[in-house]
Amino acid sequence: MKTHAQVVIIGGGVIGCSVLYHLTKLGWRDVVLCERKELTAGSSWHAAGGFHALNSDPGVSRLQSYTIDLYREIEALSGQDVGLHFTGGLNIAATRERWDILQTDYARHRVLGLKTELVGPAEIRELCPLVDVSDVLGAIYDPREGHLDPYGATHAYAKAAVRQGATIYRHTRVLELNPTGRGSWQVVTDKGNIEAEHVVNAAGLWAREVGHMAGVRLPLIPMEHHYLLTEDLPELVKAAREIPLVLDLDAEIYLRQERKGVLLGVYEKDATPWAVKGTPWEYGETELLPPNLDRLEEALAKGFQRFPSLPEAGIRRIVNGPFTFTPDGNPLVGPVPGLKNYWAACGVMAGFAQGGGVGLALSQWMVRGEPESEIFAMDVARFGPYASQQYTVAKAREFYARRFQIAYPNEYWPAGRPAKTSAIHSDLQWANGVFGVSYGLEVPLYFARPGEPAAETPALGHSNAFERVKEECFAARNAVGVLDTSSFGKYLVSGPNAEEALQRVLAARLPAVGRIRITPMLAHSGRLMGDLTTLRLAADRFLITGSGYLQAWHMRWFSEHLCGAGLDVANVSDQTAGIALFGPRSRDLLQRLTPTDVSNKGLPFMSLLETDVALAPAIVARLSVTGELGYEINVGAQYLQPLLQEIMRSGAELAVRHVGLYALNSLRLEKSFGIWSREFSRDYTPRMAGLQRFIDYDRAGFIGREAALADRTGPPPARRLVTLSVDSTDADATGYEPITLRDRLVGYVTSGGYGHCVGTSLAMGYLDSDVAGSEPDLEVTVTGKRRRCKVEPSALWDPSGSRMRQ
Ligand SMILES: Cc1cc2nc3c(=O)[nH]c(=O)nc-3n(C[C@H](O)[C@H](O)[C@H](O)COP(=O)(O)OP(=O)(O)OC[C@H]3O[C@@H](n4cnc5c(N)ncnc54)[C@H](O)[C@@H]3O)c2cc1C
Repeated sequence: MKTHAQVVIIGGGVIGCSVLYHLTKLGWRDVVLCERKELTAGSSWHAAGGFHALNSDPGVSRLQSYTIDLYREIEALSGQDVGLHFTGGLNIAATRERWDILQTDYARHRVLGLKTELVGPAEIRELCPLVDVSDVLGAIYDPREGHLDPYGATHAYAKAAVRQGATIYRHTRVLELNPTGRGSWQVVTDKGNIEAEHVVNAAGLWAREVGHMAGVRLPLIPMEHHYLLTEDLPELVKAAREIPLVLDLDAEIYLRQERKGVLLGVYEKDATPWAVKGTPWEYGETELLPPNLDRLEEALAKGFQRFPSLPEAGIRRIVNGPFTFTPDGNPLVGPVPGLKNYWAACGVMAGFAQGGGVGLALSQWMVRGEPESEIFAMDVARFGPYASQQYTVAKAREFYARRFQIAYPNEYWPAGRPAKTSAIHSDLQWANGVFGVSYGLEVPLYFARPGEPAAETPALGHSNAFERVKEECFAARNAVGVLDTSSFGKYLVSGPNAEEALQRVLAARLPAVGRIRITPMLAHSGRLMGDLTTLRLAADRFLITGSGYLQAWHMRWFSEHLCGAGLDVANVSDQTAGIALFGPRSRDLLQRLTPTDVSNKGLPFMSLLETDVALAPAIVARLSVTGELGYEINVGAQYLQPLLQEIMRSGAELAVRHVGLYALNSLRLEKSFGIWSREFSRDYTPRMAGLQRFIDYDRAGFIGREAALADRTGPPPARRLVTLSVDSTDADATGYEPITLRDRLVGYVTSGGYGHCVGTSLAMGYLDSDVAGSEPDLEVTVTGKRRRCKVEPSALWDPSGSRMRQ
């Protein structure tokens, strides 16, 4: 056995083998995989083997497409038959809501490069004669769906990797992982020890245990899952071709052909977690869990209605096997925050649809320093400490049970809530707030009127929140709005070397003491890595703020790049709470609460003051996300509630009003201000996103500068960021809707909403640079319907920016 390796991958399921293959594909040869039994000895051997490219997240969808394309490649490289059946797949809708959703999804598929079709009941019957279409409205047909042999696919990755120089140790269980102090890991196995520069946790059902070996808790849990295999069906025995994979979204069942019978899988409502306290080491290889048909009764009854010939067919076999789920159903991939050279490739619920993409993204990250496209939806750093075991079990059960249920864009599911509340949560509840969640924290979306139910109706179009959000927007534009900003990410960077270190990490000029700057971060590739705001409190003390859900993501980057002697970096997001005041009367209100002069002279735009506000020692930052005069008051969390109460008391005669995040979204769209994960992400360079004015190209030494300079002088980007007004009164774009010009796809939406104060539906998005945007037949497809739209040459609200500077 080797005593040293560049990488040790723990786990020989489809994911570990895919990572092994991709590392060799990208040129690393000294890579080892340890498997405690035989390859596939976890979830992989008993998978149903179905694959599809459709996913609600575009990044994940791209990687699923990649996975499907890869099978022919690894089959050829390895000589191993993968058992590929490209049967196509049908996602069928039997309710009006579902059909609306499918049509909305279908429009997005164009943006994602998926060649799907909408088909009616007759075509469905023709493709799959087993389906009773009497109540079916239609389906999405994806010709690239199908199924394969899970054993063959896993071994194909493994054989191809070995041919390219990798080593696999079977019957070798990793027992311990010990940091060597040199950045590497001592991997202790039952066959000897290996010093590995990097370890990859691809331990599937045992990924939690392999996490514990390094002292980390990974938010995943195995869940039981059943499928049935039938005897031959007469319709299939005589059929000339194989039927497609059929997903009955309303009945929550899937079906595919298996020889001349079918495989019917069920996502039952009463989802059952397995081995909650830990996966037994002796499980696997050939074992299954005892089936429990009682649990499936309801789903099977629906299945037998949809496929009426099934009750006649004998059941050949019932499989109940566990596989892992995360709180949101997406994998955990990337460097595990807080650990050096420890990588995650686990929590993968659909290994045969996602395995290739997971292997590719992780290998690019390890070999080249970053994945080639934005994969935040499966980044292990999207969860924080709030993702406890109980939270994970609750969310994973919810996800499993709602796997095929309609997910509306304005829905926040209830399980695992409230996990975290801000110090003014009860005041906001008292004000009839309706809440969403960000990074585990309850955040106000909007405020219902007294006596109205504090609940938003799930909807594709405008919901019952519409009129209330409108009132909040007008309050913010005409008087003063109050928003809880406790969910914002806040980092304190201090020490004699803070300035120098920040100059390396931030691509912008640092502000002078007492001033504030927008300070983007770039990755080495020159693509965006963060849209932070930096407040300089002293020569050697900086408060940096950013999107709260990126806390673990930001801190992972900081721990890698913002480190060294004479420097202290702390995530103070939980301790430092905040309230934003915005609107023309916000200065008047603030001045009533502080002895310090907060006039335009005492506190100019983009500057800060450390002062008392009511009884709270505060850092008051004058900046504006809404385009109005505005302030963010940062205080210790223990001061927040008395501060809010004083603000509401003192502000009563100024018509102060609670405002939620929906209104904030509307107000920032009216100003054409982009936000992270929508207009800005690792997919874009500053030039594409129109952020060049914030980049200090002339200063040497910041991460990504060379690439950013090359981007600045290179050919113009193919697409540019624009704001569109959309001819729609019933619904707004939410993201990834196609923008078309006479049927040509010319761009896509990144975010949308209604601009209440400008009286039009708005969207931001990327548009082909050769499209002017004023063409009369420029359209965006919202909720499946094409709507006229036009590019707005400047922000619709206060384009000169005078209101926020007054
Ligand atoms: C009933 C059922 C049906 C499914 N149907 C589908 C489907 O149709 N399509 C689809 O895409 N997915 C399906 N899945 C899910 C799919 O099986 C999983 O997504 C996939 O197998 C996960 O692979 P993995 O490599 O992450 O984990 P695993 O397959 O669990 O592999 C982990 C491996 O790590 C090894 N290991 C663990 N700890 C150690 C250690 N300490 N030392 C050495 N080795 C270790 C284990 O022995 C195991 O071989 C299904 C799952 C089930 C249960």
